[in-house]
Amino acid sequence: MGNDRNRGLAEKKSQVVSRIKKLISAPFASSLSSKPSRARLLLAFFILLLTGVASFWNVPAFGESARKNGSAGAPADIALTPLGYPFTFIAYGDIRFTDPSDTEASNATLRTALVERIAQEKPEFLVLTGDLVMRGDDLKDWDAFDQETKPLRNANLEIFPALGNHDLEGSEAKALANYFQRFPHLQQRRWYSVRYGNCYLLILDSESDVLRGSVQWRWLEAQLDQLPEEIDFVFVVLHHPPFTRSSKHAPDGGHSARGQEKRLGRMIEGRAKGMRAQVIVIAGHIHNYERYERNGLMYVVTGGGGAEPYLPKRFPKDFYTQPGPTYHYCKLTIDQQKLRFEMVKLEGDGRDARWRVEDSFEWRVKRKGRRER
Ligand SMILES: [Zn+2]
Repeated sequence: MGNDRNRGLAEKKSQVVSRIKKLISAPFASSLSSKPSRARLLLAFFILLLTGVASFWNVPAFGESARKNGSAGAPADIALTPLGYPFTFIAYGDIRFTDPSDTEASNATLRTALVERIAQEKPEFLVLTGDLVMRGDDLKDWDAFDQETKPLRNANLEIFPALGNHDLEGSEAKALANYFQRFPHLQQRRWYSVRYGNCYLLILDSESDVLRGSVQWRWLEAQLDQLPEEIDFVFVVLHHPPFTRSSKHAPDGGHSARGQEKRLGRMIEGRAKGMRAQVIVIAGHIHNYERYERNGLMYVVTGGGGAEPYLPKRFPKDFYTQPGPTYHYCKLTIDQQKLRFEMVKLEGDGRDARWRVEDSFEWRVKRKGRRER
């Protein structure tokens, strides 16, 4: 308990330091289009002074390495440092929390089994690929979310969600209010970046425009171009997949990849070529699991969190070829310069759940240097 309390205090301090550092990155971002004014320079001076004081104050408690922010100048909206390496995080999505008696939209028994299992894994954080609830403006669905995600809250996980189409269903204003109420640390951002040690997460909103030249597209380009040197792994997270074998024309239904995400994927592939860091795109929307590699980029679809299953086509050379539904979560173990990815599949009806790693890979950072800029 003592350690938990110390960790809680350290996190509080860390959040304060994070806010101060964000103040630095905000004027930096806005200065891209304008020359720094005297007032801005003065503000930067005072912020640097405050940051120095805050860093001194943020002393790790009782030998426990406290979480604190990434290196100065990191442009991430949220910056945290892991307690140590290796650490794990989990990604999954398309849960569609709703009335448990609605067995067509989502399987309450299986989604509950998944939540409990994920909490037991004790990851440092959780990435959600969207469609958290069935209908974003429905308070009853969010009540189900609140009830059923208690194990995650008790496990003290950081949660970094991406917006899905169902999260905005109904009145968008009400839906967003419900969403941001659960995730105040996003500070009303529909897309945002997270630095977590040697990992950099770029969480996109595929319900907003991600067309070439759009605000979000340019933001993503700038983030990829300004990655801190120490980053080993970049995760681009969004709901609509840039790459999937699912098709709305298939007999089982499902969704095809849309033009804007396909083009976004190509842009990321182009930028990733010159990076030392490895890039993994993690999407949802397709209620199953898929994994492909193209031009050095890994594309993962993780949408087997409880929603009615889709059955995308499987090709013999794909990394995952199992037919049928795939309720699952993805577990990523991050070490310095290397990661292990595992897809853990839920077998059984939930009450007698069996968990098996059905797909996995390991990646190291690339040897070649970063692209000259
Ligand atoms: Zn969706």
